[in-house]
Amino acid sequence: MIEQRNFYINGAWVAPAKSRDFEVIDPSTEDICAIISLGDQADTDAAVAAASAAFPAWAATPPAERAKYVKAILDQYEARKEEMAQAISQEMGAPIDMARDSQAPCLPWHLENFLTAFDQVEWIKPLGPHAPNDRIALEPIGVVGLITPWNWPMNQVTLKVIPALLAGCTIVLKPSEEAPLSSLLFAEFVDAAGLPAGVSNLVNGDGVGVGSQLSRHEDVAMISFTGSTRAGKAISTAAAETLKRVTLELGGKGANVIFADADEKAVKRGVLHCMNNSGQSCNAPTRMLVERSIYDQTVEAATDIASKIDVGPASASGRHIGPVVNKSQWEKIQDMIAVGMNEGARLVAGGPGLPEGMNKGYYVRPTVFADVNNQMRIAREEIFGPVLSIIPFDTEEEAIKIANDTPYGLTNYVQSQDGARRNRMARALRSGMVEMNGQARAAGSPFGGVKMSGRAREGGVWGIEEFLEVKAISGWAAE
Ligand code: NAD
Repeated sequence: MIEQRNFYINGAWVAPAKSRDFEVIDPSTEDICAIISLGDQADTDAAVAAASAAFPAWAATPPAERAKYVKAILDQYEARKEEMAQAISQEMGAPIDMARDSQAPCLPWHLENFLTAFDQVEWIKPLGPHAPNDRIALEPIGVVGLITPWNWPMNQVTLKVIPALLAGCTIVLKPSEEAPLSSLLFAEFVDAAGLPAGVSNLVNGDGVGVGSQLSRHEDVAMISFTGSTRAGKAISTAAAETLKRVTLELGGKGANVIFADADEKAVKRGVLHCMNNSGQSCNAPTRMLVERSIYDQTVEAATDIASKIDVGPASASGRHIGPVVNKSQWEKIQDMIAVGMNEGARLVAGGPGLPEGMNKGYYVRPTVFADVNNQMRIAREEIFGPVLSIIPFDTEEEAIKIANDTPYGLTNYVQSQDGARRNRMARALRSGMVEMNGQARAAGSPFGGVKMSGRAREGGVWGIEEFLEVKAISGWAAE
């Protein structure tokens, strides 16, 4: 069992101010797999003080040199990527092959994309030909608090830490207490990469503790948060007193609009995407909207695909899905399955309880509801488990109306061979992202939402700009 009670503050591993142990549970076995500490105000203050002290020198470090340090983090990952995959797999239950192929590689993928985008940042530029003595300068915002969730742990950490460091900010990272192991390893990468002391700090803790201490802290200029809409609201409220910048990446309830002319793999792709990572992705296409003329055959196909998805432990090799992260998530998903049944949706695959033959671990049966209407709770609330709702529609206008009738707006999906229709749909859907015909967004594309999904943009040049202030200068001397 791993015991890592220390925090990474000011370039050293330091013991918590007060001892407060927290057990990390392996969701595949329900056994304790690690013990960490939850930080206190004194730990938060120490990390913020270290980041504040390191800020002036780091902000003044030439961008190319900051990029070299970031590349050194990548070298560490390359040398220790198997450890990273194992840590993620154990802490949040991603099957090991998925952890190796999808979860851990988020780190190099985002890091390299940020380095490319970094070259496009214009640190100082003329306002325009009409104003020869005006300049627009970009400057790092200061000390930033980064609060991350457990579901794609290295994805979220990399999407925040790397652009913040490149921008010239110093950071305090508070990863999810449910999945702290990958972030502790990440802090080892930072340490070995030789970043100056205080530039990158890590304090473990929970939301009410370190999370809200960072949000309220007067020396923290910005909070970048990914997690639930509930916590996003609490952070915004806590941050209001100090008027710090708050960027939020929150939940989702993505629509996947399948027209009758969709390609033959569209249904399979949609079901597997919904169930991937055991349904624990904010951008999961959890509402499948299906044109009525292909509705029955689509429900049949989705039932068949979901019934064939294997569920198993994270340590086993293969293409199965793992458990969900913890007992409270498992119970919440079970409640929502019961809600769907009580609301009169037609259960066609999966259902309540553990998968057959299992009596331990937080496993959920891949579940599909047909004949869902968009007012049901299973269509409105984020379930964050392997549960798909299928909703019929008759016209393009109706599909748009249903897709947009949600508090969320993260990613919507469209499946159709008609290019003109795809383009109309892409513009009509109210979300930060629209992905069509299974084509993933390319490198450098921003990730983020609208409405209750939060309004942050992570990735690409937008992801770096979030950590920068715009300074308008007049009277600039000609060079
Ligand atoms: P969560 O909101 O409970 O926790 C996320 C993080 O916030 C954790 O580090 C937690 O300790 C901290 N936290 C909780 N309450 C806080 C508070 N009051 N003040 C400060 N910090 C607080 O979410 P979770 O259960 O870890 O993650 C699942 C949620 O994250 C889902 O709703 C999912 O959709 C969302 N998510 C969104 C994105 C995105 O980019 N939009 C990506 C991944 C996950």
